Amino acid sequence: MQVRYRYRISPTLGQQQALARAFGCARVVYNDCLRVRDEAYVNGEKISDTETQRRVITLAQLTPERAWLREVSSVALVQACQDARRAYRNWFDSLQGRRKGPKIRHQKPRRKRGRQSIRLTRNGFSLHGERLYVPKVGDIKVEWSRDLPSVPSSVTVIREPDGRYYASFVVERDTVPLPSCDREIGIDLGLNALIVTSDGESIPNPRFLRKAQRRLKRAHRVLSRRQKGSANRVKARQRVAVLHRKVREARLDHAHKTALRLVRDNQAVYAEDLAVSGLMRTRLAKSVADAGWSQLVRCIQQKAAQYGREFSKIGRFEPTSQVCSGCGVKDGPKPLSIREWTCTACGMVHDRDVNAARNILAAGRADSLNACEAGVRPPLTVAGSAEAGTHRSVA
Ligand SMILES: [Zn+2]
Repeated sequence: MQVRYRYRISPTLGQQQALARAFGCARVVYNDCLRVRDEAYVNGEKISDTETQRRVITLAQLTPERAWLREVSSVALVQACQDARRAYRNWFDSLQGRRKGPKIRHQKPRRKRGRQSIRLTRNGFSLHGERLYVPKVGDIKVEWSRDLPSVPSSVTVIREPDGRYYASFVVERDTVPLPSCDREIGIDLGLNALIVTSDGESIPNPRFLRKAQRRLKRAHRVLSRRQKGSANRVKARQRVAVLHRKVREARLDHAHKTALRLVRDNQAVYAEDLAVSGLMRTRLAKSVADAGWSQLVRCIQQKAAQYGREFSKIGRFEPTSQVCSGCGVKDGPKPLSIREWTCTACGMVHDRDVNAARNILAAGRADSLNACEAGVRPPLTVAGSAEAGTHRSVA
């Protein structure tokens, strides 16, 4: 299976300048790609990928305005083209209704401020001993916090807004099946808690994450009060970037730990597909996305694959909070403020989220049983929903 391994890297000042050039060129090529495709679309012209690439790289390099594109690794530019192509396709497919999930907005151009990156495939980088060699940049020092499990097939060199540099390698890793167990679990995305399980357990966002988020809000307020172009504004922006990193790291760490526990303790984990979830149709969608739920689901998916466990998403819309998990009677819609309700048919008292998680477990079991009876192995993810899950993870 393919996974990413990320390491901090420490380019020298000269290398940082060379990287800045490469980031800039890749960004320009990416934006040019989007522009060329947009123009072609408006003019009703069909334009091939090779033609787009020829226009934004090969031909552009010959013009005085883009001659500097020759100063950076061509692999990075080609990959920027590919990224733009994928981004454009996703938008276009969504526009045509060929893509599930919420509508994707038209791709924004990449900006100078914010996260910068270049992607290099096998022939565009190499490992020189302990160092990462990037053409026209040099041998960059890597902080090997753990060993690479195999020879990487590609690398993304990143500069985060807080000024840190990273190399993210794509590597092949062996799966390590855990001894099987007979427990299965359904999980429901919560608003108060991160998730609620069918066992009745509620896993909250950790306290330090909430604290960091509060600090982040404050830092944002300070930033908005600083005068544009002032030194204090630069400082305030750096502070926001650092806090963003802390929130990101804390959330990822928590997601990894939670995912590992769920996958280790259960043979199968079932979750609602976010793309079709009822909650995502509400005004609360943004706060749900903020809760890092899709990141957690990605983590579970990955760990399940790694440890030979099953993970699947319920790929159709089920009114999980309206149906009684005891008798199956549909009790009608309930506003989000109702946390507890009693089934009018069987009298069972339900916690809203636990009941939803139980329904998800039941739906997941039914799906995998159907798949077994049809004579096929239960799929890792419900067909069709796999797409929604993986698109985000390839970013
Ligand atoms: Zn009931």
